[in-house]
Amino acid sequence: MVAYDRVETDVLVMGMGGAGLRAALEIVSRNLKVVLVSKSLLGKAHTVMAEGGIAAAVANVDSKDSWQVHFSDTVAEGVYIGDYRMAEILAKEAPERVYELERYGALFDRTPDGKIMQRAFGGHTYRRLCHVGDKTGLEMIRTLEDRVLHTGNAKLLDETVITKLLACNGSVCGAVGFSLRTGKFIVFECKAIIVATGGLGRIYKVSSNSHETTGDGIAMAFEAGAELRDMEMVQFHPTGMVYPPGVRGLLVTEGVRGEGGLLFNTKGERFMLRYSPEKKELDARDVVARAIYHEIQNGNGTEHGGVYLDITKKGAAFIRKKLPGMYEQFKEFAGVDITKEKMEVAPTVHYFMGGIRVEPETARTNVNGLFAVGEAAAGLHGANRLGGNSLADILVFGRRAGISAATYAATSVAPKLDYREAEAEISRINSFIDEAGRGSTNPYEIIDELRDTMSSKVGIIRNGKDLNSALQTITVLKERAKSVTVKGGVRFNQGLLGCIEMEKMLLVAECVVRSAIYRKESRGAHTRSDFPNKLKEWKLNIICARNGSKIDLSTVPVPEMPEELNALVKPEVYA
Ligand SMILES: Cc1cc2nc3c(=O)[nH]c(=O)nc-3n(C[C@H](O)[C@H](O)[C@H](O)COP(=O)(O)OP(=O)(O)OC[C@H]3O[C@@H](n4cnc5c(N)ncnc54)[C@H](O)[C@@H]3O)c2cc1C
Repeated sequence: MVAYDRVETDVLVMGMGGAGLRAALEIVSRNLKVVLVSKSLLGKAHTVMAEGGIAAAVANVDSKDSWQVHFSDTVAEGVYIGDYRMAEILAKEAPERVYELERYGALFDRTPDGKIMQRAFGGHTYRRLCHVGDKTGLEMIRTLEDRVLHTGNAKLLDETVITKLLACNGSVCGAVGFSLRTGKFIVFECKAIIVATGGLGRIYKVSSNSHETTGDGIAMAFEAGAELRDMEMVQFHPTGMVYPPGVRGLLVTEGVRGEGGLLFNTKGERFMLRYSPEKKELDARDVVARAIYHEIQNGNGTEHGGVYLDITKKGAAFIRKKLPGMYEQFKEFAGVDITKEKMEVAPTVHYFMGGIRVEPETARTNVNGLFAVGEAAAGLHGANRLGGNSLADILVFGRRAGISAATYAATSVAPKLDYREAEAEISRINSFIDEAGRGSTNPYEIIDELRDTMSSKVGIIRNGKDLNSALQTITVLKERAKSVTVKGGVRFNQGLLGCIEMEKMLLVAECVVRSAIYRKESRGAHTRSDFPNKLKEWKLNIICARNGSKIDLSTVPVPEMPEELNALVKPEVYA
């Protein structure tokens, strides 16, 4: 006999980041039952770390800005393989979502005449990022959380881990999880599920991401039959901290460069003048990250493996007002006063453009009743994401996913859940705890090796030999993973959480590596030294689909844009 609680709801929202919270608001406002689940504490979801701002063409600072220019910047940054319809929706709807967030109570920085302030960011034609100092994510989460809690109609289960989605006759009908706090298993019964579980940055060793970003929702959706796309597209942010080792990878916001910070190598050269004479430090993230990578590789890096970012010329008062979080971060963790000293920075894994394939208008996946949104979903950003477009994405498509899931749930009958499948999953989770004869491998040994492999072989510059070697390592790790065990019970057992995350990480990492092997060109965030050119015949999206225990890869052509949208975008250039 396996014991568990049963929770019945109309819509299950997996994730309490910006995307999950924004979606939930639409469901409660339609008088449907919604349960939100989060691995971490309420208020601690990864979104809280977002710093620089929300991209929206409200044109408060640069009056020439418009949705058309935002659309064009997004398509170009995605190197023409993003979903044009998602880019159009984002560019048109982001301003209203920002004003709505303000009406909900978000306190944005202001222009002298009292409008929402906007700052420059790499790849944006105009100053476009609406921000709250360098703590925009915190303000977004605080505002949305307040709003959801005050409706009184949403059930929030934090410190609760979902391990598997349940499908009945081709439609999702529930999920299995457990509460870290109580140690109890939970079987959720629902009509619709929204996956808002964020990205997978923590499959890499050096990452700016919070520890919860292990690709869980992407892996579970895939196992339930959802297609994934663009899995090779991992964004490296140009500037993460490099020293001391304990904070390696921690983000140094693009806001520093947006506010005037300049990059130098150890010879004192402002090297971006060579790599990008026009846009310099504010070129696209992949361009700046590759430039820093090359400087370090060419021996122009610091002893800790970084370059310098200098904003001292702006003066202490300006820096402490505009970048208070960065000031504190460097002072506290590195003992560096950024008003007087240079920062040491190097690229860090930051964002995942790939994920669950969705319909642009509705956030629906190819599995009935399953919706995906935010960093867990793919399409909008193509081969590269513009800074600020993720917070815009989670507001715009969070709302759309909420409306779609609510509409679906309101008009469908709950499928009958097979409790035997749920119980089998609970037994499987329990078997990680000290099961006789299973083995004694520590899940964190596997995770550590996986992270090392991803960072050393599936990094900024890739090649077929390294990628194939990474795939071999993952195959070996998958075998070894069969022998992981942990001690103790379910309650607050970090080791058990490690077992669950390890499985998901191995699966999504395999999809990343297989897709990276498959794409034989360089485009956006995916650079291959053995295929250095961008190629017309690769203007395709790579799709991963489950085929039993195998991952099938195929390609689909990028749809042609309608003439009126095409006219807004600079033509794509091939060498
Ligand atoms: C340091 C930093 C700064 C950034 N700054 C910006 C910025 O200025 N502008 C911008 O646009 N973007 C920025 N980004 C990116 C942006 O913050 C994220 O892409 C975005 O917040 C993702 O939101 P989300 O709602 O999709 O997912 P998340 O915020 O990642 O939330 C995921 C949720 O899912 C839950 N979850 C995951 N797995 C499970 C599971 N198995 N069971 C239950 N729950 C689960 C998590 O606990 C969490 O609640 C930044 C990112 C970082 C790391």
